[in-house]
Amino acid sequence: MNHSTQYASRRMASYSYKPRRRRNSRKLAVRVIRLSTLALLGVMAYLGIRLLLTLSLTRESGTSVQWTLESNALPPSIPQDESSDYLLLVNPWNSLPEDYQVTLTQVPGGELVDSRIYQPLMDMLEAARESNLGALPVVVSGYRTQETQQEILDQKIEEYLSQGYSSQEAEEQALLLVAKPGYSEHQLGLAVDINGEVYDVYTWLMENSYRYGFIFRYSGEKTELTGISQEVWHYRYVGVEAATEMYEQGLCLEEYLGLNTAA
Ligand SMILES: [Zn+2]
Repeated sequence: MNHSTQYASRRMASYSYKPRRRRNSRKLAVRVIRLSTLALLGVMAYLGIRLLLTLSLTRESGTSVQWTLESNALPPSIPQDESSDYLLLVNPWNSLPEDYQVTLTQVPGGELVDSRIYQPLMDMLEAARESNLGALPVVVSGYRTQETQQEILDQKIEEYLSQGYSSQEAEEQALLLVAKPGYSEHQLGLAVDINGEVYDVYTWLMENSYRYGFIFRYSGEKTELTGISQEVWHYRYVGVEAATEMYEQGLCLEEYLGLNTAA
């Protein structure tokens, strides 16, 4: 063995050592990848089982599965069953639900409405401009608290008293126009009284409000069912689908909900 072969074998020895080390680290990497894949699969299986359990539990508790799937697709900030209270019935025989919560937004003119109806309401009022001499119809009454509703009723009773009605008659007459506190749709934040420059705007609203999800709530033809005299200015949000159905079939909310609440 001369110097050069000794050198060569040393080189070979050193070369043969390095690949072994590389093979070891490759094996380690493969093992790490395998383990993390297994862990990932485990987590996915766990989440899948949990989702299935949630769905079957929801189904057992009576909520529709379709609702669950839809609500899962919504951002968490949106209440899960927000469309259900668009159809809440508040009339002289049905009071506001206890602990009713509402998030409010101010409309031009200063009144407040349920934030969810702000956009459809503004779209409707903008569209109504044309039939209102170019002016934006004004919301003169939106959301009311229990106290505001009481004040409005007291004021109306006073009006009848000053016209010479007995106190019983005055109250009866007032209640045909103003709901008892706790029994006004205005307390939902989903109803508005609209002031137009001309009557044309009310005709326009009766024919077109459903496109924006609002209904002409108190038609004179339905007073026995609604308990309220005709109010051309009062509009209630129920959502486009329900509003369209009520408009096309000529139903008031009580009829649409399949209820005959008249005493
Ligand atoms: Zn009203």
